[in-house]
Amino acid sequence: MTDYKDNTYFDLFSKQKQNQFRVAQSTYKERIRKLDKLQRALEYTYREAIHEALYKDLAKPKIEAELSEIYQILGDIKYVKKHLRQWMRKQKVKTPISLLGSSSYYIFEPKGVCLIISPWNFPFNLTFGPLISAIAAGNTAIIKPSEMTPNSSALMAKIIEDLFLEEEVALIQGEVEVSTELLKLPFNHIFFTGSPQVGKIVMTAAAKHLSSVTLELGGKSPTVVDDSANIDAAAKKIVWGKYMNCGQICVSPDYVLVDAKIESQLINACKKWIKTYFHDEPQTSSSYGRIVTDKHFNRLKGHIENAVNLGAKIEIGGDTEAKDKFIAPTIVSGLKEEASLLNEEIFGPILPIVTYHNLKDAIAYINSKERPLALYIYSKTKANIKAVIQNTRAGGTCINNNVVHYANHNLPFGGINNSGIGKSHGFYGFRAFSNERAVVKQHTFGVTEFLFPPYSSLKEKFAQ
Ligand code: NAD
Repeated sequence: MTDYKDNTYFDLFSKQKQNQFRVAQSTYKERIRKLDKLQRALEYTYREAIHEALYKDLAKPKIEAELSEIYQILGDIKYVKKHLRQWMRKQKVKTPISLLGSSSYYIFEPKGVCLIISPWNFPFNLTFGPLISAIAAGNTAIIKPSEMTPNSSALMAKIIEDLFLEEEVALIQGEVEVSTELLKLPFNHIFFTGSPQVGKIVMTAAAKHLSSVTLELGGKSPTVVDDSANIDAAAKKIVWGKYMNCGQICVSPDYVLVDAKIESQLINACKKWIKTYFHDEPQTSSSYGRIVTDKHFNRLKGHIENAVNLGAKIEIGGDTEAKDKFIAPTIVSGLKEEASLLNEEIFGPILPIVTYHNLKDAIAYINSKERPLALYIYSKTKANIKAVIQNTRAGGTCINNNVVHYANHNLPFGGINNSGIGKSHGFYGFRAFSNERAVVKQHTFGVTEFLFPPYSSLKEKFAQ
């Protein structure tokens, strides 16, 4: 067995391991108290500081920070607080006649010591979201947020230190090396949010200890617009979903598959909404964010250059400014299939338009790629909506909208295969951090005892 004693984080891990049963046995009220503390910190004490950190890291507009970070987390806490008592109850199930004399139930018991690794695009939401589930389920947790948003990570470290003992919840800041070191430890559960590439590294590390994993990953989420769709309403929502947080959203519409008959109408409507939301000069708009780092800026600029070199048309945008990490809201049409924009997750404010002539071709195109985290369809034709949903697979779907399924705490959130393993949010998050322990309680003499050895011919007959 591997010796973890030389691991940088062994002492912290051991402290949480020793403390795990104390935390696991915390009552409903004790867990609620922890969630209340977190709620107060985010709602009052640190609200302004969160805005500042998000502005420094991502130039995130205040309303977006409220809607997509603070409001989401507070909503999550309130939802969990409302349902936790029920989730923590023993769940009785029927007992078959063959087990007569006993009763059966299962309990959601905490997994134990958990690791949460989070990305940079919604640093608070995607760190505190899983933490809320981990606390609700009665676990201890070590958190490793992203190094790409240093102001947000430093503030989260302060909040965690302020609210929790390190044997309960601890946050470690750092780069890949920190994750790599942490991943050597035998966590009982690892909750990772990030790219599919790193998801594979996490799952490989988890396999060494058979740690269970929840992987919230990304990919290319398609948006289908058929010829029956309300084009203007579709464009209004697509442009909102695509350019919020500068397209740095895991459920952002990655590319549009539009019926060729309405391509130009859809593009014109999208252009109109870009101008409505961000005016003619998006760089001066207070409603438009920035790219997180120079590396991502250069990656996105490279996508635009690659498309242009392959003969694609920039319908709107295309302007970039390195020192401001600014990339204008961009729409690209006429792309060659080998264009990088059609083969890599974009995660930025560039919207490729791909046309189709027959819905079956659009479905085949979607299925030729990895299974997406989200798939959106804009249509008034029930048969088309049904055909798209039944013949594809995706983590989640909106019909005549995008992104908003993320905000419903009653729905499971997560991907499938390349876009993720396991689900989160609300009850599904609580379940991800719980072991469903099956219990059979024997009350009286059990029927099966008739069949215990020594086996007689009468018992053989009875068993048949
Ligand atoms: P990333 O995978 O590069 O990094 C995520 C986290 O993993 C960070 O904390 C990072 O430090 C760590 N990490 C990076 N390389 C590592 C390695 N080799 N070993 C161990 N840890 C490592 O992702 P990102 O750039 O921060 O975020 C963007 C990606 O996340 C996109 O693919 C996006 O779709 C996805 N995402 C998914 C969701 C979801 O809920 N499904 C939400 C947001 C983002």
